[in-house]
Amino acid sequence: MIATLPPRGAGRFAPTPTGRLHLGNARTALLAWLDARKLGLRTVLRVEDLDPAAIPPGCLEGQYADLDWLGLAFDEEPRRGGPVGPYRQSERAGLYREALQALDAKGLLYPCWCSRREVHDAARAPHASDEGPVYARTCAPPTPRPIGDLDAVPRRRGREAALRLDVAAALGGDADIAFDDAIAGPQRFALVAAMGDFIVRRRDGVAAYQLACAWDDAAMGCTRVLRGADLLPSTARQGLLLRALGLPTPVWAHAGLVVDATGQRLAKRDDAIALEGLRAAGVAASDVRRLLARLSGLPDTGDLDLLTEAFHLPGPEAVELPAGWP
Ligand code: GLU
Repeated sequence: MIATLPPRGAGRFAPTPTGRLHLGNARTALLAWLDARKLGLRTVLRVEDLDPAAIPPGCLEGQYADLDWLGLAFDEEPRRGGPVGPYRQSERAGLYREALQALDAKGLLYPCWCSRREVHDAARAPHASDEGPVYARTCAPPTPRPIGDLDAVPRRRGREAALRLDVAAALGGDADIAFDDAIAGPQRFALVAAMGDFIVRRRDGVAAYQLACAWDDAAMGCTRVLRGADLLPSTARQGLLLRALGLPTPVWAHAGLVVDATGQRLAKRDDAIALEGLRAAGVAASDVRRLLARLSGLPDTGDLDLLTEAFHLPGPEAVELPAGWP
């Protein structure tokens, strides 16, 4: 458990450095930063590089350069440090182990040796969404009990085990998890039926995104989590993990995504909407801030002080890039 809870009161931007920042990421960064500043909270930049092998060389430095160019300075971030660091997930494995141990002590975890193929084949109702199939609990013990030493889980079928959360046990009799999203409104997710027992530690021993993100938000004292609407389904799982760990939940605010003229969400590989490309094409950072503000129903200005003063949450709907961008 978190021995001493951190000072509460931060907002954060938490990019995964697998590509340079584009206008969609930049809007999330700007809104999260403005939201925290408007409320007088600490601003935190957390780098979600759980999987260092997936991070292209130079990508993290590139994202720093993008944020610096956009004019967003964070109170706490990897380069500057701060009271609740480290601020890169790749340096926080020991903390995730504590979270996993706390969940295991409550009998909420079990090892799973199933391959992706086996999970898919055993699923009662293969899921159409990109969440993947609902796990058929092939490896679940008949009654929940602590695993004990999480580093001594044996190999089976020639594989290391992943660790899954026993969602029904964590829900403790509730059927759903419900929360009020500050942008998207009341939410209710039937976690057992719709998502099933999800992985909290991957087979390679690395914490899963849901676990790391939920834990870090609590451990960094985040009271506001403003991010893209694509992460709304993750929130149910993160809320359940926080509840199971007895930790406070932040206020979640999921903003509609930025889409192109064809309604497609912006992709990291599209150089045309990358900040790096816009900058190289001679676009001014203040014009990008102004565009992002306008897309969010904020005053037509790139001035960060004015935007902070006038800030209000955007709507839940997707917003389209206006013609001419890029
Ligand atoms: N790292 C995630 C991403 O870049 C965002 C996680 C979050 O904001 O909670 O999609």
